[in-house]
Amino acid sequence: MKDTYLHKGLRKKLVRSLEQKGIKDERILDAIYSLPRHYFLDKAFEEHAYEDKAFPIGNKQTISQPYTVAYQTEMLQVKKRDRILEIGTGSGYQAGILALLGARVFTIERQENLYHKTRKFLNTIGLERIRMYFKDGYKGVPEFAPFDGIIITAGAHIFPEVLFQQLKVGGRMVIPIGEGDQKKMICYSKDEAGQLVVLEEGSHFRFVPFLEGTNSKKE
Ligand code: SAH
Repeated sequence: MKDTYLHKGLRKKLVRSLEQKGIKDERILDAIYSLPRHYFLDKAFEEHAYEDKAFPIGNKQTISQPYTVAYQTEMLQVKKRDRILEIGTGSGYQAGILALLGARVFTIERQENLYHKTRKFLNTIGLERIRMYFKDGYKGVPEFAPFDGIIITAGAHIFPEVLFQQLKVGGRMVIPIGEGDQKKMICYSKDEAGQLVVLEEGSHFRFVPFLEGTNSKKE
């Protein structure tokens, strides 16, 4: 894997386009500039890696669009040392951005094949401190709860109550949720009484579905 001046130049352009689309957090823009997205894609898509688009990563899943990653990360308001739980590891790109922001990342994937592939890959690029789990994301990681932040990177149609239980009081949970194809990005929090509060309602996004259970088929 090589990260050339050409790649860096394309990333700079991508970062500028994200700024134009409204992303303001410099730390997030820096992380996107630092992390070579082309490493996370199949060779066939390498030359498109810095377009603001989603791409297939196998098992009918996709790496999220950079704008979506930046948008969700901004809503999450990650601080250094925060314990962050991500649902939907996929390519590992979102988890990588969170790790570069200094978070302690826990991430869950329900596709066994992707889990193994991404686990191996993250280890080769020096992101082995990201803790990865092959399991149903609806269950969360109770042994490391509560989390300062929870980010769901698949489109939900029902609210994941168990994950909310694993959120700290005052923590943030960012989830694309709704009935149709387009999900509304919502940032929830938990008040002192343990009740659900809506902090922010954002734009609509298209995601692969947040499914229950695990899948061990190759494709
Ligand atoms: N964050 C990823 C986006 C991958 S797409 C990235 O940066 O590349 C969403 C991922 O969520 C898919 O890999 C899909 O398999 C996974 N997913 C869907 N439902 C899940 C569940 N219940 N538990 C864990 N992962 C799930």
